[in-house]
Amino acid sequence: MRSVDHACPACGGAGMSVFYEVRNVPVNSVLLVRSREEALNFQRGDLILAVCPRCGFISNIAFDEALTQYTAAYEATQGYSPTFNKFHRALAQDLIDRYDLHGKDVIEIGCDKGDFITMLAEMGENRGVGFDPAYVPGRHPSPAAERLTFIPDFYSEKYTDYHADFICCKMTLEHIPDVGDFIATVRRSIGDQTDTVVFFQIPNARYVLCDVAFWDIYYEHCSYFTKGSLARLFRVNGFDVRDLWTAYDDQYLMIEARPNGAGELGSRGAGETSVAGEESATETLEMVEYFVKHYEARRNEWRAELARMKAMGQKVVLWGGGSKGVAFLTTLGQTLDDIAYAVDINPIKTGTFMAGTGQEIVAPTFLTEYQPDVVIIMNPVYRAEVTADLAAMDLAPEIRTL
Ligand SMILES: [Zn+2]
Repeated sequence: MRSVDHACPACGGAGMSVFYEVRNVPVNSVLLVRSREEALNFQRGDLILAVCPRCGFISNIAFDEALTQYTAAYEATQGYSPTFNKFHRALAQDLIDRYDLHGKDVIEIGCDKGDFITMLAEMGENRGVGFDPAYVPGRHPSPAAERLTFIPDFYSEKYTDYHADFICCKMTLEHIPDVGDFIATVRRSIGDQTDTVVFFQIPNARYVLCDVAFWDIYYEHCSYFTKGSLARLFRVNGFDVRDLWTAYDDQYLMIEARPNGAGELGSRGAGETSVAGEESATETLEMVEYFVKHYEARRNEWRAELARMKAMGQKVVLWGGGSKGVAFLTTLGQTLDDIAYAVDINPIKTGTFMAGTGQEIVAPTFLTEYQPDVVIIMNPVYRAEVTADLAAMDLAPEIRTL
């Protein structure tokens, strides 16, 4: 690891340590790319991950916000997967039960196409306001439509007037480079409504580091947290941390926080005790060291496996045409010669292309014609679902998961 002169975006501490670099990766892996040429010539940027020795926050210090696009062509929904929908509905019900969300005002920051806030509105008779520049109107016709408002913009102090009993923000914070500024903005926007419950969900860096999941590191994700670094970020910005937990096979990290003080940047965490499971900065550094020690071997294992399959003339497809797939292919330098297709169950992605490496994204039914020998599933959580989908098409390829 090398120390760099870069202030930590979470705690402001100096001297982050660089531990992982991948150059020239596509700057976006879920935009709909309409041609192979466009995919192969996709704008690129660098991944230079650094960890803060003071708070344990991990940041891509080469991230350039100007290169990211969160427009209507941003297609990251997992809502076509029954496995994901089951999780998503259970999460909505859990939050409704935990915080008694019935007839309440709910804000979702980064609501994507509105799936989740629509569920909260429908399942708890709540009123919802969703913020997202990538919002597409009309994707989800809902009986709760008259209680839902969508604002195609980033959430900011411009919207302080919107009252909320509950603020949720899922899979968004990891896309924001200046996380300290962002959480401070959320806190200021809440003002003196100190009974507001704040819930965030993000990828769990412990899973990425300890599973050496290099395919979970990609350009749009510029910020990575463990329980400990996430809790510390909220505390220094005027929140009390009430709970921290993981879900989805430990891939997701959740936090419940409550604003403290009366619209001031409260106690700044002085003397507050930590919640169970919070890693210290030192423990996070140990996880980073573990990742550094093993990622080269992990990548080489996959390269060798894919080379072996190719040498045997096996047809290999990826299952999952999203970020993990793009990161897997670009990090391993897989070309169209190596793997020709990626499958995705989202019909909006059919006929589009993987950014960077140019594989066509096909619908599952394409496989009945293509007859793959090996299917590599980009997330182990979907193994049962994908296995059943393949069996339903009378296909029995070798199934691998990352
Ligand atoms: Zn820090």
